Amino acid sequence: MADKTQRYYIAPCSPPYNARMPLTLRASALIPVPPLVRLLALLLGLCGPLARAAPTYPEPGVQVRAVQLSAHGYYIPGLAGAASRENEGFMSNAGFVVTPEGVVVFDTLASPSLAQAMLRRIRAVTDKPVRIVILSHYHADHYYGMQVFQEAGAEVWMHEAARGILGSQDQKLRFAQRKEILGRWINDETQRFPEPDRWISGDTDFRLGGLRFLLRHVGPAHTPEDLVLFVEGDQVLYAGDLVFKGRVPFVGEADSRQWLAALDRLIALQPRVLVPGHGQASDTPQQDLGLTRDYLRYLRTEMGRAVADLVPFEEAYRGTDWSVYQTLPAFEEANRRNAYNTYILMEKESLGP
Ligand SMILES: [Zn+2]
Repeated sequence: MADKTQRYYIAPCSPPYNARMPLTLRASALIPVPPLVRLLALLLGLCGPLARAAPTYPEPGVQVRAVQLSAHGYYIPGLAGAASRENEGFMSNAGFVVTPEGVVVFDTLASPSLAQAMLRRIRAVTDKPVRIVILSHYHADHYYGMQVFQEAGAEVWMHEAARGILGSQDQKLRFAQRKEILGRWINDETQRFPEPDRWISGDTDFRLGGLRFLLRHVGPAHTPEDLVLFVEGDQVLYAGDLVFKGRVPFVGEADSRQWLAALDRLIALQPRVLVPGHGQASDTPQQDLGLTRDYLRYLRTEMGRAVADLVPFEEAYRGTDWSVYQTLPAFEEANRRNAYNTYILMEKESLGP
């Protein structure tokens, strides 16, 4: 992994910041510094005129907290439901793993503000630098905070299947939509779309600080680029949006047949703790993998039957018994679209390859 000392933004004092400081001092990035320390830093010449300012972002009103799951693993639990001004877009989870040689982060939440708060939570647990940030997939709620971690010196990894999204019309549309929903939390002034530092091309295992990490490409499932991260010794699985706990999944354009195959791969890892993309972490992973799997199977069965019987979508949707799922969070926002996309998918599948 390349050392990126050259482009760190460090904030021992504010503003301006000194851009080049030892690793241990990088930990202070984005943390408020008392005036006395700032003065001391000024006297020591740590704040030079040539220094670049690390951006700071508005403080989120929602509470961002870290929950420990195992000896090394933590997660940041998002709020329930779909993105809204009330939850500030904070509806997906992120995770981090602390090793003696640095921190591995999994997903970066839905805005720079949330990521900044997450970084502060990490700093409360360890002063080790964040080394690697893995993005599970390119959905706004999982990667809009990535720039904050790059600014703090971390290397961002992403699967290469997402390459085409950067700068695409789809990304622009999603951005416009997010700005409208989230107001001050997502805007042109703060939001950048930097490239990841490393494109991953397949399953990639790595070691850091004595821990072995299994990074698995399980797409195309929820998205073509889906990555999941398994921390071997701790048996913690960060599953991204492949698994939803206690809520209706967002299926989008996903290929549900391949998604079901991917769920089997996750089951085979035998995780002890599972962090889904949405909903609480679980110590009953098999059960939660089961809920997502059963929902996908149900969509495919019901919509597949309608397609085979030439029943129009509207009629099929009305005629389907959704009682098992309609009390779950995000049902209103996601279910109809999930069903519709599955209907289209089943039509395509019925026509053969
Ligand atoms: Zn997603």
